[in-house]
Formats: sequence, C-alpha cells, structure tokens
Amino acid sequence: MKIIVAIDGYSSSGKSTMARRLAHEIGYLYVDSGAMYRAVTLYALRHGFAAAGRVDAEGLISDLPAIEISFALDEAGNQHTLLNGEDVEKEIRGMEVSEMVSPVAAIPEVRRRLVSLQQSYGSDKGIVMDGRDIGTTVFPGAEMKVFVEASPEVRARRRLLELEEKGMPADYDEVYANICERDRIDTTRAESPLRKADDALVLDNDNLTREQQMAWLLERFHEIAG
Ligand code: C5P
Repeated sequence: MKIIVAIDGYSSSGKSTMARRLAHEIGYLYVDSGAMYRAVTLYALRHGFAAAGRVDAEGLISDLPAIEISFALDEAGNQHTLLNGEDVEKEIRGMEVSEMVSPVAAIPEVRRRLVSLQQSYGSDKGIVMDGRDIGTTVFPGAEMKVFVEASPEVRARRRLLELEEKGMPADYDEVYANICERDRIDTTRAESPLRKADDALVLDNDNLTREQQMAWLLERFHEIAG
C-alpha cells in the first residue's frame, strides 16, 4: 500500500535532501514545496511586485492566474523547477529570492493556490513532500509525518556549503540572519504557520550524518508502510 510522507521543518534543516533521497530509495514521487514558493517569489521580483523587503500583495494576487509552476527531471534524475515553462532551478536558490520568499509565502491567496496544486500531486499517494505545512495543512491525513529540527548555526553552515557548491558563495552572517528571519516569519504568520503536527515524529539532526538520517527514515517508513 502506498502512503503519503510529509516532511516539515525549519529552513535549511536538510529536509529536502533527505526527502529527495527517501523518495528515490522507495520509488515515490518527490515534491519540493519550498521550490514552488520560491518560483512565485521570483515571478514577483521580476514583475516588480517585490522589492526592498516589501511585497505588493494585491498586484501579485491579481497575477496569480498567470503563474504556472511545474517540475521536470534532467538526464541525471535531478528535479528542476519550471516557472511558466522556464527552468529557474538555479535562480530560485539565490539570496535575492531567499530574502523575499517568506513574506510572499505569508500571503493567504498564494498559499491557497499552491496548497491545492500540492494536494493534486498527492491524489494517488506514493509521494514524499517537504515544506513547512505539509503535515498540518497540505496532507493532515499523511500516514508518515516527520518534523526535522536542527540549530540555526548548523543550518546556516549547511546552507553556506550548499550555496558554495552551486557556485553562489555567500556570507555566513547574511545567511544566518536570513535563516533566523525566515524562521520568525514562517512560525508567526496567520495562515498555516510552521509548526510540528501533533502526530509527527521528531528528527533532530544536529549530530546525525546523512546516512544515519536515511537509516532512521527508512526504518520508520517500513514500520508504517509495512
Ligand atoms: O524549503 P525552502 O527553504 O526552500 O522554502 C522557502 C520558503 O518557502 C520558506 O522559508 C517558507 O517561507 C516558504 N514555504 C512555506 N510553506 C512550505 C514550503 C516553503 O511557507 N510548505
């Protein structure tokens, strides 16, 4: 029997890497819901609806029907996010988008649109999705829910490494401040704030290697999915 796996947690907690690897191991579809909020944010930046820390919510809401988000796989099996058919995978990971994504993701109309798209991906189950509200709002009935925790210092160092690997070097203090600010906005927004679902399993990965995390996830998955 196929199930839904919901993985939530704070920014740069390593949940996307974990979710992608788990999906690959168990042959499930993987969806990075954060990439969808990032793509909408890139659209807002390009169309003048977001600048200097401020979002023109009304303008962006009126353009929502014109925003099409989809995913494609490259030959190596890596997932790329498409915004109106254009591959924006690299651009959505940069600091410019990171700095504006949480205010954009706090707009209820943006959330409603993306949540319904996310729910449609899970209609046949067999999906691993990661984000902030997957176990609470997108799939409250998910059979397996995981909430990932790690300290902001560990997360900032991880994010810095990830940006360097992508050829986008950044400053530690800037990355650390961005992570703390996104945590603050994500946990305090009115519409589906980031929080642990009551029935989520907690994974604190400060001191765990990727292999240990995967072993833990696979064990839980087999216990639940049988
Ligand atoms: O996961 P990632 O860090 O790429 O997500 C970027 C931002 O998108 C988060 O900081 C959060 O503001 C927003 N987000 C969200 N709900 C989700 C996934 C991401 O609000 N399910």
